[in-house]
Amino acid sequence: MRTTNTPPAARCPCGNDDTHPAALPVKRRSVLGAMALLMGYTARPARIDWVCPTCGAVLDSVTDPAALERARYDEPRRAAR
Ligand SMILES: [Zn+2]
Repeated sequence: MRTTNTPPAARCPCGNDDTHPAALPVKRRSVLGAMALLMGYTARPARIDWVCPTCGAVLDSVTDPAALERARYDEPRRAAR
């Protein structure tokens, strides 16, 4: 089992950073959220990790409650920086 406490890497081994356009948003749900999902209720994700499509390294993580609420039903979008 992979730890979720690993700090996000600024750049993954294959050289992509967290602004890579193909970075994949992966919603991480709490155990409670996963159970709610099984019952047909879409819970707010616990966090969203942006993952390199090539090596799977976590490039960035979203834990802001407002951003997570917006991602509850929609696919998360990259925030303009
Ligand atoms: Zn990579």
